[in-house]
Amino acid sequence: MHQHSSNDNKNIIAVIFINFFVSCFEILGGYLSGSLLLISDALHNLSDSVSIVISYIAIVLAHKKTNQKYTFGYKRAEILAAFINSGILILITLYISFEAILRFISPNKIVPITMLIFAIISFFGNILSTIILHSKSKHSFNIKSTYLHMLSDALASFAVIVSALLILYFKFYAIDSILTIIIAIYILREAIQLLIKSTKILMESSPDTLNLEEIKMAIESIDNVKNVHHVHMWSVSGNDIFLEIHIELNDMLLSQTEIIKQKVYNILKEKKINHINIQFETNSCLSKSILCEDKF
Ligand SMILES: [Zn+2]
Ligand SMILES: [Zn+2]
Ligand SMILES: [Zn+2]
Repeated sequence: MHQHSSNDNKNIIAVIFINFFVSCFEILGGYLSGSLLLISDALHNLSDSVSIVISYIAIVLAHKKTNQKYTFGYKRAEILAAFINSGILILITLYISFEAILRFISPNKIVPITMLIFAIISFFGNILSTIILHSKSKHSFNIKSTYLHMLSDALASFAVIVSALLILYFKFYAIDSILTIIIAIYILREAIQLLIKSTKILMESSPDTLNLEEIKMAIESIDNVKNVHHVHMWSVSGNDIFLEIHIELNDMLLSQTEIIKQKVYNILKEKKINHINIQFETNSCLSKSILCEDKF
């Protein structure tokens, strides 16, 4: 378990404000200088502020206790937030790439000095957010994704500074579009990975680190276990693993199954499966398939 103190909350709120101001500032800079790179960086920062607000709400929800309505608690909210964040990010990035291609075909005038001044100030804003979030990035799936994100944003702002210099000294106007597209590809790659990861959890997929067939064989090697079937395995938050399993035994007293249960628990705990639901039976299921064949 990890605790989120009110200090963490203050840090996240600070990052939201910094991001919001950097975004407004960059939009102004992009408008004044004519740089798409600044505007794309601004839109991106703005979407970040929205994402962080969602993440923040998710973290608060994740620490709410379970109740009779939400028996799994609210941890899944964090995954839902990651899913929405990455989806929004992908849409914005695709839009910016499209704009950059249009500008590459017909370039427009950029005022490099204005672009440079705004880029330098935004760069320091992004660096500040990254430093604030860095210490919090160890535990949580979503905080970590937010931190990585801030880091790539700081790199992006640095690229804006470099391209302002290239325009200033070499009149290399196309760099604005070229870098916008490169940054977009980089962000897209990260957003797609996050989307895939959160989609897998939302689809209740078995965690990538575990092999169902291996678990089945380990349990079937226990004395008196005839077979293992009808398995469900999933994760609620990305940090926990749930397992539901039918185990067919030789007929015996219920009290005698306790030792078998303990052996099964030991096997599963070793694989970091922390929420286990076993159904012992003699010969009640027709299907002995490892997979669920129920028709709902
Ligand atoms: Zn970002
Ligand atoms: Zn069964
Ligand atoms: Zn089932």
